[in-house]
Amino acid sequence: MITRVIVVGAAGRMGQSLIRAVTEQEGMRLVGATERQGSPMLGRDAGELTDVGALGIAIESDLRACSRADVLVDFTAPESTLAHARFAAEQGMRMVVGTTGFSSQQLDGLKSILTSVPVLMASNYSVGVNLTIELARRTASVLGPDYDAEIVDAHHRHKVDAPSGTALSLGESVAEGRGVSLEDKAVYARQGITGAREAGAIGFSVIRAGDIVGEHTVMFAGAGERLEIKHVATDRMTFAHGAIRGTKWLMDQNVGWYDMQDVLNPS
Ligand code: NAD
Repeated sequence: MITRVIVVGAAGRMGQSLIRAVTEQEGMRLVGATERQGSPMLGRDAGELTDVGALGIAIESDLRACSRADVLVDFTAPESTLAHARFAAEQGMRMVVGTTGFSSQQLDGLKSILTSVPVLMASNYSVGVNLTIELARRTASVLGPDYDAEIVDAHHRHKVDAPSGTALSLGESVAEGRGVSLEDKAVYARQGITGAREAGAIGFSVIRAGDIVGEHTVMFAGAGERLEIKHVATDRMTFAHGAIRGTKWLMDQNVGWYDMQDVLNPS
């Protein structure tokens, strides 16, 4: 059976990678693509910006103008993802969410909208990053809080949220490995006379520069040794391929809220 997919944010960096990944995937078809109102890409062919060539799908500003789909793939921005979620819930359409930077209020809103469809949401769809998240949990649990945990993320100059969603997921995983709450232990900024490092803190540092696709390091520093787990993404297609793998998996799931750990470690 063919899975019919709508990609919103079709002219975005991830939108373009997703369109390429969907068209390359056997058993999947792009049936719709949207962009924000006022985008110069409206009315243009969704394949035009990628090297896949014309697809016969015009980029629309309104989801209602798209053909009926099985799943909506959304890597845009929090406010627009909330609007898209209302449409997906109304239409009984599955949703794959890659957008990051939600406030906790927005996240609660998203969860309360998407109660009747299967949803896959991950701050990072790379398979390597999801393995890094697992390794961070295990390492934190074995080393314990005597090893200082610091998380560094580096991204391109256009990224609007910090720390990255992935850095926060890594922080959650370190906290989980230690049996504490990230909210209680996170230190997001240091400047001036900060005093000595608080025992058990989970620190975050952020680099935004140039065209860095995405790099994350989780450092555990103890007395006399340091262990670093590092992941480097060199091409956005890694996120798109992971999202498509997740989309295929989601097609067989019941109503519920899933993440990439569920996709990679099915129970
Ligand atoms: P981008 O700015 O290049 O693309 C976003 C696109 O969404 C833009 O073209 C914008 O015009 C469009 N858009 C905004 N509002 C819209 C609306 N209402 N309807 C349709 N389109 C709309 O950004 P990007 O680098 O592609 O990243 C997008 C999001 O995905 C960010 O939140 C980013 O952090 C996240 N991201 C997630 C992963 C992951 O694996 N989960 C990987 C990379 C990026």
